[in-house]
Amino acid sequence: MLESNLSQTLDSTERARDVLAGGCDSPVRSGWAVGGPMFVQASARGAYAYDESGRRYVDYVMAYGPLLFGHTHPALTTGLDELAQTGFVWGNTHTGEIRLGERIRSHLPSMQRMRFVTSGTEAVMSTIRVARAFTRRDLVLKFAGNYHGHFDLALLDAGASAHTRATGAGIPDGIVRDTVVARYNDLADVDALLRGRESSLAAILVEPIVANMGYVAPQPGFLEGLRDRASRYGALLIFDEVITWLRFGLRGAQGRLGIVPDLTALGKIMGGGTPIAAFGGRTDVMAVLAPDGVTFTGGTHGGNPFCVGMAHRVLDLLEAHPEYYDRMHGLARRLATGIRGVLTSRNLPYAVVHDESIVDFKFRRGGPTQNYDDARSADAVAYAAYYHAMLERGILLPPSQNEVIFVSTAHTEADIDETITAIGASFDCAPLRSSFECDRSARPSTALRSARPSTALRSAQDDGG
Ligand code: PLP
Repeated sequence: MLESNLSQTLDSTERARDVLAGGCDSPVRSGWAVGGPMFVQASARGAYAYDESGRRYVDYVMAYGPLLFGHTHPALTTGLDELAQTGFVWGNTHTGEIRLGERIRSHLPSMQRMRFVTSGTEAVMSTIRVARAFTRRDLVLKFAGNYHGHFDLALLDAGASAHTRATGAGIPDGIVRDTVVARYNDLADVDALLRGRESSLAAILVEPIVANMGYVAPQPGFLEGLRDRASRYGALLIFDEVITWLRFGLRGAQGRLGIVPDLTALGKIMGGGTPIAAFGGRTDVMAVLAPDGVTFTGGTHGGNPFCVGMAHRVLDLLEAHPEYYDRMHGLARRLATGIRGVLTSRNLPYAVVHDESIVDFKFRRGGPTQNYDDARSADAVAYAAYYHAMLERGILLPPSQNEVIFVSTAHTEADIDETITAIGASFDCAPLRSSFECDRSARPSTALRSARPSTALRSAQDDGG
């Protein structure tokens, strides 16, 4: 069964590599960080992903965040004709987006004015342009291990699976010069890097709670410190809530943490699986945008009525069902407890973190991850062996240690228990055990090629994951 799955997957892998650059639309999907091959998906339902042979996998990737309700929640997938029959795209400001903006603002009052776009990348990129226009400055401070999409400055020392280096990666030197990359949770580093450049600072861009170098919580005082510095230097504070809004409730990370950013970017969950995102913030700041100001953002699909309709459905669901959060929290806690049990019984002192519907642990000792240096010190060989051992047992994990496990409303206690059993078995299987015993200085390809077929496995040190 497994062999036939593999041969089908390899066939599709070859075809994918023949027609898609690198075999994928987003590098993490290629499986390079876990030695390949890529997981080729054929369909999805509820908490499950299916491969081409019809084999079912409990899915914890959840499209890297958007699928808070799992795949194919009936409230999102039925009655779509009604939405489609009003037309997919109109090219005019419309009542649905006005109402959506008002609904979003009722939950996120800092977004006094907003604009709809299609992706998280576009949303964050637009906040940067707005911040630069408002402050009439260029310098942006961001954090290593945060991920904000694939526009130029966002990729410098980005988390997730960006593994981008500025040199030779198509990012102009000017962008590098105008970007300062600091250590997350480290205000002293922020101060040292900004010293003498405070008056050039346009914006501080941050994931208020990080999910792109694994899960990283802001230490007490860190975000307050950023708020304080942005205000003192006449710069703007930008919260990238592309993952956190709706994942951590309707008020997002900013509501939970009680910190008011000047600008916010949203995306992922808000579209219920369709591509819609938003950016917005202070009225005076957003007034730089044309036609009120001279700064341009726009797009054919900005406020696409179909996606706006889906966003209303998402908000309908969450406003009507606050208990969904309790349910996901309970499932995630059950999973985290199970993982801790497996690790403790094998004397592996890895920190398991659980926050709402996110669960995460890294193959590293020494407490929860605080920053990208911590994240990069995790054992990529062990994670790759773990990923494949879990896949063989019908559990689909993110193919990079920089991503987190997302639990959805579609997961059940039975799924969680199946997962915990698989984790126990995976930790006892030979490839994972030998990865603990093998020479840590070896490049992952050495350890993994013997365990799994490998496409271009690259060094864990290169990937940031
Ligand atoms: N910001 C954060 C925090 C993200 O996690 C991501 C994507 O993973 C983005 C921005 C970019 O969003 P998109 O992939 O929709 O362009």
